[in-house]
Formats: sequence, C-alpha cells, structure tokens
Amino acid sequence: MKAFPVPVQAEACAEPQVLRERGQHEVFCGLTGIIWLHRKMQDAFFLIVGSRTCAHLMQSAAGVMIFAEPRFGTAIIGERDLAGLADAHEELDRVVTELLARRPQIKTLFLVGSCPSEVIKLDLARAAQRLGQKNASQVRVLHYSGSGIETTFTQGEDACLKAMLPHLPQRTDAQRHVLVVGALADVVEDQMRALLGQMGVQSIDFFPPRHSAQLPAVGPNTRFVLAQPFLSDTAQGLRAMGLKQIESVYPLGVEGTTLWLQAIAKSCDIDPGLVDQVTQAPRQRAIAALARQRAKLEGKGIFFFPDSQLEIPLARFVQRELGMRLLEVGTPYLHKNLMAPELALLPADVVLSEGQDVDRQLDRCLAQQPDLVVCGLGLANPLEAQGVATKWSIELVFSPIQGYEQASDLAALLARPLNRRERLVA
Ligand code: SF4
Repeated sequence: MKAFPVPVQAEACAEPQVLRERGQHEVFCGLTGIIWLHRKMQDAFFLIVGSRTCAHLMQSAAGVMIFAEPRFGTAIIGERDLAGLADAHEELDRVVTELLARRPQIKTLFLVGSCPSEVIKLDLARAAQRLGQKNASQVRVLHYSGSGIETTFTQGEDACLKAMLPHLPQRTDAQRHVLVVGALADVVEDQMRALLGQMGVQSIDFFPPRHSAQLPAVGPNTRFVLAQPFLSDTAQGLRAMGLKQIESVYPLGVEGTTLWLQAIAKSCDIDPGLVDQVTQAPRQRAIAALARQRAKLEGKGIFFFPDSQLEIPLARFVQRELGMRLLEVGTPYLHKNLMAPELALLPADVVLSEGQDVDRQLDRCLAQQPDLVVCGLGLANPLEAQGVATKWSIELVFSPIQGYEQASDLAALLARPLNRRERLVA
C-alpha cells in the first residue's frame, strides 16, 4: 500500500508566483552551522577567525554546549592586529599551534572566516595552506567563510561541505554507490542506512561523515542525493566533479521520506514493490503517530519567515500531512532546480516569497493573524509580545526531524507553541 502516491499533474505548482524582496533581513550568519557540524564530525575542530561579537554569538546560540568541552573556539583578531597583517598571521599561527598541542585528536581543523574588516583582510586560504603544510602529519587544515556578509545560517554548512569536496578520495569500483549529502543526526542516518540496506542499497555513504578523517570516496558510479535543501554550492561542486544528482523532495514527513527513499531506490534499479514492502511498517507507524498531531494542527494558519531554507519542504509537510493552511512561505533563496520536486507538491495558489523586507513582511504576517509563525530568533520575541505563537526555525535545523520515526516529533515541535499559548490564555 502506498501511503502517499506521487501527485498527479493537476495538483502541480510548477511555476509558482514568487514575491521577491531585497530589503533589510533578519537572519543569523553562517557561523551558526558550527553548532550542528561540530556535533556531527567528532574529530573536527572549528576555529572561528573573528571578533568578540562572533565569540558571543557562538556562546549564546550554542547555549549549554559551550560547557561540554566544545570543539569550536574563536581566535579573536582585534584592533591591535590592524597594525600589520603579518601580526595577524602570527597570532593565528600561535593560536593553532597551542590548540593542536592541547588537542592532538583533532584530525580536521576548519578556519572559519567572519565579517569584521580585520578578518576580511586576512587571506585565510593562504593561512590554511601554510598551517596545513606545517602540521601535515597531524591534521588537515581547511577554510571557509561563515561571514554574515556572505552567508545566512544554513549556508555555513554548504560552505563547509564544499571546502571538503577537493579532498574526497576517488573510487574506481563498478558498484553503484550512493552519497547522501547533508548533516543528519546519527539516529536518522542509522535509520536511513538500515532501510536502504533492506532494499539492497549496500554501497552508501553519508557526507559529512562522523569522522572527518574518513571522507567518503566518490567515483563515476556515485550518485548523490541531498538530505538537506540548503546545499546548492555543494551540489554544484559535486555535479562539476561528474557526479549525477538523484532528484527528490527532502525526507521530511512520511510522504517526503517515502518519496526520497523511492528516488534513491529507483536510481539503483530497485523494484518499487520491494521499497513498498520495506517501508510499510515504519510508514504505518509514522502515519498513526502523525494523526495525533494532525488533530491539533489541522486548519491552523502558518506563516514562514525566510531563515533556514527548510521552509518549502516544511510547508509541503505541514500542508499535505497535517492539513495546515499556508499563509506565506518565505525562503532566503529559491533554488528552483533543487526545489522543483517540492514546488510540484505545493498548492497552486501558495504565496512564496524570496529574500526579505522585514517590516513589510511583518505587516503581511500580522494582517493574516497566523496561528503559528516559523521564524528566526530575532523576530520571535516581538511576535510573541503581540500574541503570536512562534517556533524558532533554528530549532528545526538542529533537531532530528528527518525520516519516518521523526515525523511526529517534527509535528510535535510545531504543536508545542500552540499548546503553550493555549495554557497561557486559559
Ligand atoms: Fe556577527 Fe559577522 Fe561574526 Fe557573524 S561573522 S557573528 S555576523 S561579526
């Protein structure tokens, strides 16, 4: 039994109207990605080359994790380093030498650029090359930018993964190989690997890997599939390396997970009947678990502010599986090629917006009296103060929400602010 058949063309929203805005926007910078990336790659260290502001952002955004022997830190490049770039490079070398002596288990060191002008003047590519050569026997040194000028928060992961691409080893075997791209919680990765394994997809790797020193090998028989929608540069890099992309929706919700697994299976010439058989039990468990949340959320109006680039897949999930009404679906960027399968599942009259003009968007949001708003931290407090229930989009990025077992957890995360508000009002 197929729980969610592939939709017929009549439902398609192939060319949606998109409201494009280029005004002031409220989004975290790409440094934020370090919060989930450092949890994923246990032998990597993220050294932010930045200012005290960057250090404070990481401490407040990462919350309690800062006490748990974190695998990220900040090399503060301050005013005094403006005296000469040579001094800044010396300072960076000193911090890295001390760090590597203290933490010999680090296998990959990411130098993460930021936006203070002192840092922009530093050539981090050269610094990474110099430090990599100096410590070649111990650690690989890579660099990318998490600057708020160049990146919004999930783009930090995109930049990090892209920085690793030139170091992926080559594979030459004839076996069909699948690379799943995008950081997933270990529990989700294990579930996906098990399901795909039962279908007969044995040669499968996840990128980023749990151990940065063990990068997955790719070759002419590798196809890749995105597990996260915000990895456009990484996807482009993989395509440029000759890898074919498996096009799919993203594995959010029962339908999304099923379509994602079906797409992978199809690329490996696996019998659709076997896919149905393998997924039937977890699908039915997930549908039953979702029904409880659907009772709470059905008919409620939801407004997405542009933040994580997860908004479109989330909108598809809440509309089709929870019966919520989409008031507006904002996304920081709309990569039509990466989103085409998702857009095809949205209602034809969906209001999509790309970019932001925050004041205008707030006006539109309040005018529609949403039951729930998904937004960044900066907008949540003002909206809550006006009586609107909010969900922080960042929470949806670093919670395990993909896959069958997590579908009802995702719905529960969305229901929680409504429950809280009901209790407050009662
Ligand atoms: Fe702020 Fe830029 Fe540092 Fe991000 S990188 S915390 S936007 S100064």
